[in-house]
This record gives sequence, structure tokens and C-alpha cells, in this order.
Amino acid sequence: MKFLRLCILVLTVFVSFYGSAQMFTQQDSLRGSITPERAWWDLLFYDLQVKVAPENKFIEGSNTVRYKVLKPKQVLQIDLQQPLKILSIFQDEQPLSYTSKGYSHFVSLEKPQLAGEINEIVINYSGNPREAIRAPWDGGFSWSMDKNGHPFVATSCQGLGASVWWPNKDHMYDEVDSMAISVTVPKDLVAVANGRLKKVHEQEDTKTYDWYVSNPINNYGVNVNIGDYVSYGEIYEGEKGPLELSYYVLRDNLEKARQQFKQVPLMLKAFEHWFGPYPFYEDSYKLVEVPYLGMEHQSSITYGNNYQNGYLGNDLSRSGWGNTFDFIIIHESGHEWFANNITYKDIADMWIHEGFTAYSENLYLNFHQGKTASSEYVLGTRNNIRNDRPIIGPYGVNKAGSSDMYYKGANMLHTLRTLLEDDEKWRRILRGMNSEFYHQTVTTEQVENYLSEQTGIDLTAFFNQYLRTTKIPTLEYKIEEDTIRYRYTNVVEDFDMPVRIYIGEKEHWLFPSMEWKSEKLPSIPQMVVDSNLYIKTTRLD
Ligand SMILES: [Zn+2]
Repeated sequence: MKFLRLCILVLTVFVSFYGSAQMFTQQDSLRGSITPERAWWDLLFYDLQVKVAPENKFIEGSNTVRYKVLKPKQVLQIDLQQPLKILSIFQDEQPLSYTSKGYSHFVSLEKPQLAGEINEIVINYSGNPREAIRAPWDGGFSWSMDKNGHPFVATSCQGLGASVWWPNKDHMYDEVDSMAISVTVPKDLVAVANGRLKKVHEQEDTKTYDWYVSNPINNYGVNVNIGDYVSYGEIYEGEKGPLELSYYVLRDNLEKARQQFKQVPLMLKAFEHWFGPYPFYEDSYKLVEVPYLGMEHQSSITYGNNYQNGYLGNDLSRSGWGNTFDFIIIHESGHEWFANNITYKDIADMWIHEGFTAYSENLYLNFHQGKTASSEYVLGTRNNIRNDRPIIGPYGVNKAGSSDMYYKGANMLHTLRTLLEDDEKWRRILRGMNSEFYHQTVTTEQVENYLSEQTGIDLTAFFNQYLRTTKIPTLEYKIEEDTIRYRYTNVVEDFDMPVRIYIGEKEHWLFPSMEWKSEKLPSIPQMVVDSNLYIKTTRLD
């Protein structure tokens, strides 16, 4: 998901959340924690079947949940949000009873659940699902029409949860290994979901599109898009061989798409270079037009940026470079590596998705336009940083941290790259992350430890500073003749990040801490601190 910051509505949500000072409800905990009724079973497979009737904004369907018993327990939690209703729940064709707390439903299983066994339950449901208020940030179903009067329908649900439109284990820590998604729609429309299209069945008035995802997928990554789509495709020769690219766009936009979507192979070239192979070759890559801005739906990136460069035509960095690429194609596709391949376990750690993906925008520029462009872009995005709240949010209650996870996250990673002074090593680390955590859900500690180990630098204080406080490290210095005196203020304990300075053409590293240090330097008055480091500097004399 992207750019909370430019949206007044979302800022209001942040302010009201912040104002409400960590008051969480039982529903927040049922939604956001690994409850005992979730912990005992491991997701293997979803078979989601849903019939969508745009004319009365109604859906009905079922989800078959296949799971492995990790330790015996007889109560299983499934989430489905009102106004959708559960019609019935079965195991081995036996109807089951359940109790509900808000939208968490606790199913009493009759059959003994034995460790190691693989079981299934089937949940039948229907209703008028929540309508998106401002997709994708405040999601649900978007029911709209194209210019020719055809229904144009899409789902989005990050944060809100996939249980807003289908019953599932609505927590990010556990993913299915694969998933079938069958969507039935009026027969003049096309339904596009994740993965590959296996079959289309025709009924009298409807068509059913059977999609199949053969890789792990997180809940909010699952989506359905319905419209008067036309499609075309191409083959990209990538690091793992031929990758199928497919584009689904509204009939009238085919020519515009053929131009604008030429950026997809450019994106793949840059991101495979920096991050390693696209993580879902088996499922192909798709770009699918939707009636909202866009979202990182796995192997079916959704697109609503009006076939123009920038973010709805704007350069978020104000450096000029942001208008040289289509923000939604680049940013949302970057999430295939950071969000879909490497996925947070708890939305409190959402910086793993958005920090790295915001950072991927400048690596895209680095690949195609050079390092100066990439640096100007990421420094330009600093204007978007608010330092209102820490990047990491509260755990266990389904709440994200500050929207600074985007550009403060990107600037933190750019700072780290600058400290390393070895771009090839940095690239190996980014690629290493994508293989170390391949198709996994992770915590921020895992990512932080990996980066410490691979860089060979203890980054504990570095991450504590940038992820867990709103303080910007400040380098204070005084110049007395040929001596510089300097120290850090506004830092956490043990923060001792080196600072590169330039004296004329010559570079020099300072090693500040919270204690004053002094050093003799030649030609001090021309000293410039490297702006690639995200710190403040204050000259005291
Ligand atoms: Zn994003």
C-alpha cells in the first residue's frame, strides 16, 4: 500500500488513532494476535469460491480450509466481517456449531483433532460486503462502472483484513502454501484473481474463472477484479528463465496500456538485479487495471494511475526524477519482493514492506538513470517525513506504525548503504534477504539481525534510533582554529553511527558519540557533511 501521507482522510485517521492513546478493544486482540484458537493449526490450502453479482452488490460462496493439526484442540477461529454472514460450517460433511465475538467465529469441532493430521473445514457465506470508502486505504468492495456502463469491480483489504470479503484465518503470521480462487460473474464480464487462469466454465448467464496460486500467499494479497477486460501478454527473459507477463485493462485503454506498461520489463530488469529473481515465476506476473490507485496483490498487481508517470502525475520527491517513471507500476511491483515474498508477521512491522519498497523506487532510478538520480530522489522524499510517531507500531492489535515507514524507512536504508561504502556488497545483502526469507513471514528482529550479520556492523542502536523513536540524530560541532569538536545529541543509548564529511575534494570519517570528541583537520571551514546520511547537523560557533 502506498502513501498514506498525501491523503488528508488518512492523516485524520492517524491523528484520531494517535489521539486515542493506545486504547485497544477485544476485537483488536482477536484480530491482531495469535490466539490459542489459531496457534494449534497450520494453514495448508484455501479453496475459495465466490459468486459476485454487481447488480445488487451481493456475493455468496464458500471457502474450504485445509490445515495441519500442530497440537490437539477442538476450537478453531475463523474470521468473517459483518455484514457478511456465515450460512453453515462443515467438517467431513457434518454441520458444526460456532459462537461469535464480533467478526471472530469460534468453531467447535466434533472430530478429535490429532497432531499431524490434515483436516478440512468448509465455510459457506453470503451477503452484501462492506463497500470500500476510499480504496485501497479504507477498503472492501469497490463497485463502479466503466465509461461504457459495464460494472468495474475490485477488492482491496490491507489492514482491514481479507475477512472483509471472505472467511479465513485473518492473521498475517500464517500463509497457505497454495490457493484456488474461483470467481463466478455475469457472462459478459471477466474476473481476474491471483496466479494463473486454469479454466473458464460457461453457465447460462454466468462464467466461472478458475485461478490457481501455486505459491504461499498472504491474505490481503488475495484479490478479485471484475470488468470488461481485454488482455495481452509478453514473455520476459528473466533470471529464472521465461516469465509470463499478462496485462488486463479496460477495453478502451488497450492502446494506452501498450505504451505505459513498457515500464514493466524495465522494472523487472532493475529489481531482479537488486533483489534477485521475481519470486513467483510459477504464477506469472500480471498488471490489472482497477478503479482505485493500486495495490501489491501478489502476481496480480493492481493499477489505477491513469496511464501517466509519477504518483497520479506528481513527483513525490520534487527532484524531477519522480516524473520519469510510473509510480504505481514501480512501487507496487517492488512489493513482490518486499511484502509478498518477505511478509511481516504483524502489521506493526509494516516497514519491512513499505520501507524497502519506498527504497526500491530509488534503486529503480539507480539502475536506469545512475546513482546521482537515485540519491537526489531519496533525499527529495525526506520532505515527506513527519517524525510524528515511531515507524514500528504496537504489536498484537493489528495496528501499523507511522506513515514514516515509507520515506524515513527509505532514507534509513539509503543511510545504511552509504555507511557500507560497497554497493556490490549491499546488493548481495538485498538479494540474500530475498533468498534467506524466501516465501516467509518475518519479524523486524529477523530482518534487523540479518542486516547486522551481513554488514558486519552491530546495527542495534541504529535500528532503535530510526525505527523506535522519532528523534533525528543531530551532529553538533564547533570549529576552533584547526580543530573540530563534535558529538551526537538526540540519539538513543550507544548510537555511534560514523559521519562522512568532505573537506574540499577529500573525504573523511568522523566517529561521533554522545561524548565530545576533538580532532585536528586541515581546511576546516570548507567542511561539508555527506547529505546521504539522514542526520541533522548544527554548528555551534
Ligand atoms: Zn507500498
